[in-house]
Amino acid sequence: MPAWSLRQRLLASNTAAADVAFAAVHPEAGRIDATLLDLGCGMSWAAVHKARPRVALRCPACGHGVHAKVSSRKLRYFAHDPGRPADCVWLNESLEHHRLKLALATAIRTVGWRADLEARAPNGSWRADVLAVSLDGTHQVAWEAQLSPITDEDISERTLRYQNDGVGVCWVSTAARVPWMGVVPSIRVRDTDSDTNGNADDVARDADGDVDHDLAWTVIDGVAGFRYSDGAWRIQRLPLDAFVGWVLYEQTFVHQVRTRYRRIGIGAERRYVRRHLIWTTSRSVDEMIRHDAMRQRQDERKRQQREREQTAEQRRRDEAEARRQEEQRQREIAEAAERARREQQWEEQRRQWALEAAQARRQREAEERRRQEQARAAEQERLQQEQREQQAARQWWQAVSSAQVDELRAAVADPVWKKDGIRLEFDSHGPPASCGYGIAIYRSRQLYGVLRPSPASLHRVPRIVPVFVRNAREAHLLTETGRIEPDRVIHFDLPEYEQLSLI
Ligand SMILES: [Zn+2]
Repeated sequence: MPAWSLRQRLLASNTAAADVAFAAVHPEAGRIDATLLDLGCGMSWAAVHKARPRVALRCPACGHGVHAKVSSRKLRYFAHDPGRPADCVWLNESLEHHRLKLALATAIRTVGWRADLEARAPNGSWRADVLAVSLDGTHQVAWEAQLSPITDEDISERTLRYQNDGVGVCWVSTAARVPWMGVVPSIRVRDTDSDTNGNADDVARDADGDVDHDLAWTVIDGVAGFRYSDGAWRIQRLPLDAFVGWVLYEQTFVHQVRTRYRRIGIGAERRYVRRHLIWTTSRSVDEMIRHDAMRQRQDERKRQQREREQTAEQRRRDEAEARRQEEQRQREIAEAAERARREQQWEEQRRQWALEAAQARRQREAEERRRQEQARAAEQERLQQEQREQQAARQWWQAVSSAQVDELRAAVADPVWKKDGIRLEFDSHGPPASCGYGIAIYRSRQLYGVLRPSPASLHRVPRIVPVFVRNAREAHLLTETGRIEPDRVIHFDLPEYEQLSLI
């Protein structure tokens, strides 16, 4: 058979369910173990394998008949007789499972303990794949080959059942990913065969025959060491035999990883996994405790440093706040002083303005009094002037009789009547001040001239009209005042005195 097809068949059979069991019940000797040279009861393999007459062996799990067999690789085992019940627990176990159980049993026996396959608890609360029992029978450790998926709850519950009976337990898997690693006491293992898959020498060795018993199994996960210089746990590889020995002789034990150290290094690269439970030695735990104490001291120093910094920061803040308040206070004082100064300034300004206003008012009042006095004086002067003029006018008119006045009227009016046929009219109300105390003469209702104004009141005569007087003497009396142009004065040649003959 070509080497490659043998390899493929081995790989396929590793995970498939196989009718393989290492324990059986002998009608007389009781439980026998195919992995032990004397089957665990001083009996030879030949006594059950192909023996005549045939021995009535039974399956410890289902009670169905089994018979002894030897594989092509010289592995001794038991298989069910035809007509086996489909629900026997062993029937559903893979060849890989059987190989792992065998490897565990071999390792346990190598370090001098008894290994019981498919061992049941007296009260039936558990059934161990392989139960390691110390020679004096006082210590027991169950080794469980757990290849099928199982929940954290189930595996924790099953672990608790062992612990309740005072039995140690270690769960073992060959899978690449094991979700419950570190949830319960557990390891991951690999055999050298699968470790060197594809190696031509290895295949050639397989082709030579049975090598199962000589395979070197290695624990590749679940065991960790702590080095103070690293400050972290790191997964360590070691031969399965060595690990089993350390567990059974309590050189290694399950350790609950402290929170700070749960990130655990694995492999050569900087890869990490998180674990709550690991297998380790007391030396590593001591190193970890020493390191943790150092870290706690560091943390404490950091905490104190932080506290000092916080205190200093608080003090800085307090001081800054005090400074700010002091500055604020100073600012308020300065502002108040400035306000008071401005108010005082305003007060002075207002007082100044009030003084100025009072002074201005007094000046205005004085001015007004002066103006009134002047007006009064002027009025008085005007009245006196009027009285003087009236006095003069009265004397002026007393100098002539009414007949002489009529004579003058006629002298003015007759030539106009004769020439233009227009009768001049003389103001009948007597001499008013507005005509300089002379008599207004109208021609066709328009001022034509003034008859005999008083010499003292010529300034009151309208400037555009001529004035008429009786003779040259009267004309002279007018013009000598200098208040009227001589060419405006028209005089006649009427006699100075009344001619008695005319009366
Ligand atoms: Zn069975």
